[in-house]
Amino acid sequence: MNLSAHKIEAERPTIRLLDDAAINRIAAGEVVERPASAVKELVENALDAGAQRIAVTIAGGGKILIRVEDDGRGISGIDLPLAVARHATSKIDGSDLLNIHTFGFRGEALPSLGAVGRLTITSRVAGAEAHQITVAGGAVGAVKPAALRHGTVIELRDLFYATPARLKFLKTDRAEMQAVSDTIRRMAIGAPQVAFSLSENDDGENRQILNLPPSTLTERVAAVIGRDFTGNALDVLAEREGLTVSGLAALPTYSRGTSGAQYLYVNGRTVRDKLIFGALQGAYSDVLPRGRFPVAVLMVDLDPEEVDVNVHPAKAEVRFRDGGHVRGLIISAIRQALSGAGHRTSSTLSNETLSIARPSFYAPGRVSQAVYAQIYDAQSLVLPGLSESTAAWSARADDTVAEPITAHPLGAARAQFHENYIIAQTGAGVVIVDQHAAHERLVYERLKRQAAAQSVKTQALLLPEVVELPAGQASAVLAFAAQLAALGLVVDGFGGNAVMVREVPAVLGQGDVQALLRDIADELEDQGASAALPVRIDAILSRMACHGSVRSGRQMRVEEMNALLREMEATPSSGQCNHGRPTYIELKLEDIEKLFGRR
Ligand code: ADP
Ligand code: MG
Repeated sequence: MNLSAHKIEAERPTIRLLDDAAINRIAAGEVVERPASAVKELVENALDAGAQRIAVTIAGGGKILIRVEDDGRGISGIDLPLAVARHATSKIDGSDLLNIHTFGFRGEALPSLGAVGRLTITSRVAGAEAHQITVAGGAVGAVKPAALRHGTVIELRDLFYATPARLKFLKTDRAEMQAVSDTIRRMAIGAPQVAFSLSENDDGENRQILNLPPSTLTERVAAVIGRDFTGNALDVLAEREGLTVSGLAALPTYSRGTSGAQYLYVNGRTVRDKLIFGALQGAYSDVLPRGRFPVAVLMVDLDPEEVDVNVHPAKAEVRFRDGGHVRGLIISAIRQALSGAGHRTSSTLSNETLSIARPSFYAPGRVSQAVYAQIYDAQSLVLPGLSESTAAWSARADDTVAEPITAHPLGAARAQFHENYIIAQTGAGVVIVDQHAAHERLVYERLKRQAAAQSVKTQALLLPEVVELPAGQASAVLAFAAQLAALGLVVDGFGGNAVMVREVPAVLGQGDVQALLRDIADELEDQGASAALPVRIDAILSRMACHGSVRSGRQMRVEEMNALLREMEATPSSGQCNHGRPTYIELKLEDIEKLFGRR
């Protein structure tokens, strides 16, 4: 490094104490990364002050103006200079950094903001006059009387004007505004009883972006993430030894391609914590394929002494004293909720289906009589061709007449079409089942149950089958032979790159042993030896299940179809296949009637 360029003597560098302005700028580098982080600090301060209403106004993506108004308890005139002094806080006395009940405690935010922008604080405590203080580029002005009804107004103008390097790294105004909005949405879920608003000020014109009245958690989540989510989410609640995990977790079929829709809180604080992310992902590992992310709002509440929030200047990460306990409870709480959901799949899927199903010609008022006449004509032409299958349908319907349709959630099987889909009539409409996906899930769950009970039923092959594998895979399979045997797959070495299969799990039936083994060898190769054993085993069982399921293309009898439906109802997680795809969709009669313009 060229030291002289940094105005430091090369020979004998002297050690000097930096002045406050420089120290605050350095601290600001950690605490205030972009406008959204300034907003986060200011909103946390408002929440710490007991605010019931918080209004945020932004101009120029936060580079021109960030204003946060609250109706909290305020700061007295005497305290204003202290509020902007470094390491000055009203929230702790410094004796116990593990017993923290507020968002703030480092006393860093306001001096940092005053170091990188022009900060004005106007505040009033009950029973006194309002006062104002200004800090710009680290220089603190005098306290002056001001006018304000109650609470605190903090304005930060020209963020990063004092640190142009930081300014260069900011994204477009639109992107910064998006980040501010995301920050506020996250915090709003953490404090549903508080009203939040966000407006954007463009050339003097105010545009409201968020307006959230005080509400319950579910209402707040619906307002922030959407009713789509709350309609497809399960309640999560578990409590163990002073640790509580609560919130809402979406059905697996309502997953996303990124983790952006995961809202995580520790003692009310928004976090992006790796342990919680990992636990959430782990809870869904069985029902979601790699690369899909569950949508969830997850609150972890515990004794503040059990968690260190002083790990990260922006406090986004935390450290749990007993991470294993937290991880375990998150996983079991979510799995319990998911298995309780049984065979439910996401309702948005049916909505998607409906929008696809909606015929393009259906436009009342726009379609002329002539066009309708054509359609009806066309249908009557087709009818004779249809009559055969119509007869088959009614014959099948008769088979099931004894069974009360409404008695079962997945209804009574009516027909199979395209050799893979089952139509069942339910009390409220119809269900369409992907028989291959559904059966695969059932086989998988059966295998898992048997494996857990160490009682996988096997079936010996009359003629042991020799399978030739790619170089290296045979030894990988043989190295895992003992575990495979416990799963019902008994293999021996056969020299070279070949292995001999003697027994297979009975639930797989008479499948293609060659294909089964090649798949399992691939899986073992993919896994390496890195993953945890239970995860590896589940993955292997999942591969096995693919081979044991009713392939699409197989005709099923009505009794077989009904048996499949009943087993789906009785099996946890049967609403999606092992790859996270839905196993069935449901169309309500009223929606079908809408399609036909009857409603
Ligand atoms: P910290 O939040 O870590 O204490 P800050 O620099 O964010 O540090 O704030 C310093 C102090 O200023 C706080 O401890 C609090 O007493 C006071 N303060 C800041 N913002 C507000 C507010 N909106 N309402 C009331 N007091 C506030
Ligand atoms: Mg603070």
